[in-house]
Formats: sequence, C-alpha cells, structure tokens
Amino acid sequence: MSSVTPAVSLDQEVNPWEAQSARFDFAARKLNLDEGLWKLLRMPAREIIVHFPVPMDNGRIEMFTGFRVQHNIARGPAKGGIRYSPDVTLDEVRALASWMTWKCAVVNIPFGGAKGGVICDPKAMSQGELERMTRRYTSEISDFIGPEKDVPAPDMNTNEQTMAWIMDTYSMHARRTVTSVVTGKPLNIGGSRGRIEATGRGVMVACGESLRYHNMNVDGCRVIIQGFGNVGSNSARLLMENGYKIIGIAEKDGGLYNSNGIDIRQLIEYKYRNGMILGFRGADAIPSDELMVMDCEVLIPAATENVITSRNADKIKARIIVEGANGPTTAVADEILAEKRIFVVPDILANAGGVTASYFEWVQDRQGYFWKEAIVNEQLESILRDSFDDVVRYAEAHNVNNRIAAYMLAIDRVAFTIRQRGIYA
Ligand code: GLU
Repeated sequence: MSSVTPAVSLDQEVNPWEAQSARFDFAARKLNLDEGLWKLLRMPAREIIVHFPVPMDNGRIEMFTGFRVQHNIARGPAKGGIRYSPDVTLDEVRALASWMTWKCAVVNIPFGGAKGGVICDPKAMSQGELERMTRRYTSEISDFIGPEKDVPAPDMNTNEQTMAWIMDTYSMHARRTVTSVVTGKPLNIGGSRGRIEATGRGVMVACGESLRYHNMNVDGCRVIIQGFGNVGSNSARLLMENGYKIIGIAEKDGGLYNSNGIDIRQLIEYKYRNGMILGFRGADAIPSDELMVMDCEVLIPAATENVITSRNADKIKARIIVEGANGPTTAVADEILAEKRIFVVPDILANAGGVTASYFEWVQDRQGYFWKEAIVNEQLESILRDSFDDVVRYAEAHNVNNRIAAYMLAIDRVAFTIRQRGIYA
C-alpha cells in the first residue's frame, strides 16, 4: 500500500484536521472518488464561531469562544458531541465533525456529522458558571441546532447535566419541551437506558469481534486502557465482567499496573471518592507512557487525540488496538502499526456505540416510547457486530487496513446519497 502521509513535521502530525484529511484523501483516491464529491466532502459545510459573555461568581464578566462545525448533512441531521476544554481549536472541532459523518455512515445510522466545543477550563469553574456558560453558548447556536437540524451530545468534560441545560435552554426559546434536540440526557427527561455506558459497550463488542477474528480466547486476554473517564471506565468494567483481565490503566497524571488484573469496580469507586486513580491500593503505580508500550493483547486508547504517534508506535507490543477515543492515533503512526501487523479497530467504528445509542435516544424521544435496557443493548451490539464485519470484509476485499476500509465504506455511503439527492444549484 502506498503511503497515507507524505513526510510531515510533528506539528502537522498531531493536527487532527491534517490527520483526518490524510486518511480522507487516501481513501478517496482508493475509491476513485469523483473530483467534485472529493472537494465537497473534504470541507465542513458550516463552521460557527461565537464569542459570548458569561457573568462569573466573582461578579466579573468573562468572554468565552465556542464552536459548532457541521461537516455534512446528506444522510440526515448533523450529530455530534460538545466538548469543554482549554485546548479546543477550530481545527480539532472540524476534524471531530468529519469523523462524526464517517462514524454515522460506518454504522449506517441516518445522521450527518457535527461537533462543538467551548474553550474553557471546566475544572476551574463552579456549577453555576458552567450552567451560565452552557446556556449562553446554547442560545448563541440555537438557530443552527434542533431535532431535524443538528443534535448535540456529551463529549469530553460534558455530561447528562450539560445536556439537561442545553435541552432546557432550547426549550425555553421554543416555548415547549423539545427533548430530541440533544442526546445523552438524564433518564427522566428523555434520556435512553444504556446511553451512558454505550460507548464502552461498543468497545467491548469491538474487542470480542477482534478476538474472534484472530481465533483468540477471552481467557488470558490482557488489556491495557488509556483513560478512565466515561469511555475508559465503562469499557474496563464491561470487559472485566466478560472475563478479560485489565492489567493496566493509564491516566494523564499516572498509571496503575497489576499483572493479576485490576478490580475495576473498586477502582471506579476509588476514583469517584478521590477524583483520581492515583493511590489505589489494588495495583502498582507506573508512568502512563510506560504502560502504553507494555506487553498485552489489547490496548484501548480511550481518552483523547494523539496518544499513539511516531514517538511511541514502534514500541507498542499489543496485538490489537481498539480506539475508544476519537483520533488517538496519528496518520504517521498508522503506518508504523501496519508494518508491525497490529490489528487496529479504528475510532469511527470502535467508539460508534455512543452515537448509536444516541440514535436510539432520538428515536425514543420522537416516538415518546422508551425501550427496556436489554433492547437498547441488544440492538447496539447487533449494529456494531455487523459494522465490524462490514469493515473487516471491506479491508480484505480491497487490501487496505481497517481504518482506510472504514473511511472508504463511509465515504462511499455518503457519496452515494449525495449523487442520489443531486446538488442543489
Ligand atoms: N461524543 C460522542 C462521539 O464522539 C457521541 C456523539 C453523539 O452521541 O452524538 O461519538
């Protein structure tokens, strides 16, 4: 296979938009995508930037910057999370928005792709400040979101409470309760059973299918997980409950290792009480970058972008990588992993459980009829198993790696829809 990435600097390597574009261009070329559609799908359709004031607890007014990028709506309303972080950039939100388009197409749900973000430090803000910031951001973008337009959801540092505020603010403007404007809401106001752990459940399905594909057993399967937020902790718990041995958890401020397996339920409780995993008695402390390259069968990056780069990819010993986070592997690292014959389940497949359950939530809100948790889980697992199958078969048929196969499958589905609809002019 020719190279996905021409020689790039480290700055370029870790720019998520460059990472997305490199894979997109490569997959589009492989697909022989028509030049016009190539140009169309390469760019996000709409980028909204808002600068808005928020009264802080100390009586002063602070200005915040927020983004909402809608990459494509050919297959349905735009869909994607909102993240709060000091590091949010327009390029990052752009990349994440296009990943949502590809992700929804890979699992074949009727949504386009979007993403939002606000530059802020949520850990340094009070609940009141977060609420006022969320409500004002929502009102700034309220003309552009809606059940049929663009449906936000939680992402990094946002949660059910954030979604409840967004739903309420939007509903106050609409002068009626509009639950289906966001997903990931609390259960009693239109949330779906199974949504919170859905991304973790999808990661678990991707692990199970990967083992089956390699004729490997769950017994003795050692897993290292980077990140212990919603995705990392739920993946860890579900995997442990299904017989995997979680030997390492890596977080920003340090990692934990226990060759006999870490008791994940206890660790979740410990983190809930202490706000961090450091100091947990059931495992040894170890630097996180060391954990990433330790011997294991499955490595799950489940936190953020750029944790597998040209700096560590050649040292990774895992046989299988399941990407619970968005964009954890750079395009340069992809090629190193491919040379080492590491089997990668790419983010746009592996973490699609979250948006799949969001789809179920949106459907339930619009019907006003709510499903049992077993139904949500069963439907989710079935969609992810089928999508895994689609991607690995596509990879085999076209002699490409799983990531490029997932992009090709997704681009093909979106391009097909655009051809069918035609270009309005
Ligand atoms: N933020 C999640 C993701 O990146 C979920 C998006 C959604 O449910 O719309 O997939």
